[in-house]
Amino acid sequence: MAEQVSAKLRAEVLERARGRCECMMSTCGDHQGRCHRPLEGDWAVHRLRAGGPYALSNVLGMCPACHRKAPELGSARR
Ligand SMILES: [Zn+2]
Ligand SMILES: [Zn+2]
Repeated sequence: MAEQVSAKLRAEVLERARGRCECMMSTCGDHQGRCHRPLEGDWAVHRLRAGGPYALSNVLGMCPACHRKAPELGSARR
């Protein structure tokens, strides 16, 4: 995993998300619909398609709690 998440992308995600987690996974169990915990500290840029690009259209801003439950990057295969 040599790909880096740029500071610019993080800033763009943060702006789009209005500073709130964009996770919509029902499997998280502790939020219904969208999670709205703040994106702060070590929040993550999570790719929707593992192996896809770190581009605004392929990522979600996730709070640490949600990201821990998200499928491991690179291991999701169909
Ligand atoms: Zn969240
Ligand atoms: Zn979540």
